Amino acid sequence: MASIPLALSDEQRALREGVADICKRYPGEYWRALDIKREYPEAFVSELTKAGYLGALIPEAYGGAGLGITEGALILETIHAFGGNAAACHAQMYIMGTLLRHGSEAQKRAYLPKIATGDLRLQAFGVTEPNAGSDTTKLQTTAVRQGDRYLVNGQKMFISRALQSDMMLLLARTTPVETVKRKTEGLSVFLVDIRHVKGLDIRPLRMMMNHSTNAIFFDNLEIPAASLIGEEGRGFAYILDGMNAERILVGSESIGDGRWFTEKAVAYSNARVIFGRPIGANQGVQFPIAKAYMAVEAAALMRNKAAALFDAGQPCGPEANMAKYLAAEAAWEAANACIDCHGGYGYAEEYDIERKFRECRLYKTAPINQNLVMAYVGEHVLGMPRSY
Ligand SMILES: Cc1cc2nc3c(=O)[nH]c(=O)nc-3n(C[C@H](O)[C@H](O)[C@H](O)COP(=O)(O)OP(=O)(O)OC[C@H]3O[C@@H](n4cnc5c(N)ncnc54)[C@H](O)[C@@H]3O)c2cc1C
Repeated sequence: MASIPLALSDEQRALREGVADICKRYPGEYWRALDIKREYPEAFVSELTKAGYLGALIPEAYGGAGLGITEGALILETIHAFGGNAAACHAQMYIMGTLLRHGSEAQKRAYLPKIATGDLRLQAFGVTEPNAGSDTTKLQTTAVRQGDRYLVNGQKMFISRALQSDMMLLLARTTPVETVKRKTEGLSVFLVDIRHVKGLDIRPLRMMMNHSTNAIFFDNLEIPAASLIGEEGRGFAYILDGMNAERILVGSESIGDGRWFTEKAVAYSNARVIFGRPIGANQGVQFPIAKAYMAVEAAALMRNKAAALFDAGQPCGPEANMAKYLAAEAAWEAANACIDCHGGYGYAEEYDIERKFRECRLYKTAPINQNLVMAYVGEHVLGMPRSY
């Protein structure tokens, strides 16, 4: 039976301190400068990778640290609590789970040790398409088998880090939707080497925040048949398998954001004197911060429960989804309390608040939007009718 520890172990505290030491070398100025130019945090990601943190979830047998999702969550939360943005590299942690669970032994031996050392970057996850956002089974990118290769055609949208990654985990349709019994069948997952290939066009999109996101066009991209992960046609199930890890990890980033915002808000509200007293003495300033703090703490508890279940190998779909939802809402609440108490300074770039405000907003929409989490809870947890 899984249980939720109420305090970090000595090892977990040391892990957090190790990550914090790196984060302290990359202060607000670093992230701010990259944000303005929309550049990738290359130095930060390299240092994090070399220190082994991005290979935390890869088993020791494949060169990783063999840690649990609880520790992975702690790493990402810490980066965000120190004002950084782990979105630049978080996918490395959860994408490799698909390879680990469903890849062949040969694929795991070929890729996981290199991913663990950072010799190979697996940062890109190609699912979303212009005509298939939340409704993944409608995706139109096809991979057609031709001898020992697949020919890929189609378009993907909002695929992050494709220009910074060596490999991409790609979801494509291998059997036309009209000829499968259920629309979730006939989709397949491929581990694609996206370096130096023909038929792949990656076009960066300038987004609200620095996120290295792209539109991708496949024009007869040839990939070896050996790129297929697991069985052809079972890709949707494989991707779903990885969702709980993704929800827990992304939720942890929101919790880190929430902690960063509340800490900033408290410090500023205690220091800023207006009308002869600290603004934090006003309930209109203090209460939204206290409320956001409680929301962050509650989300962290749910995240801890989800992580404990995950690490114990027990079902955790409801908890992982609820953790992601609650954490994204809590971070957004904290972001608003923080920007409000800073008055005009909240909008000044040098305070980093407006940057973090933009960054944390994403998790209400991606990797899954809040409405779909509520639909999941309504239908699968509470037993209500399917709403879509
Ligand atoms: C910065 C950024 C980075 C991203 N990175 C990646 C990536 O690396 N790889 C990848 O594959 N994708 C990525 N995405 C895509 C992201 O996962 C999608 O944007 C998200 O899943 C929503 O899909 P959509 O944008 O097509 O919205 P849609 O599916 O069109 O939905 C639009 C809105 O309608 C509402 N809605 C839709 N359906 C329902 C329903 N049934 N009930 C109630 N409300 C509903 C929701 O509020 C939703 O936000 C990224 C997106 C962004 C913005």
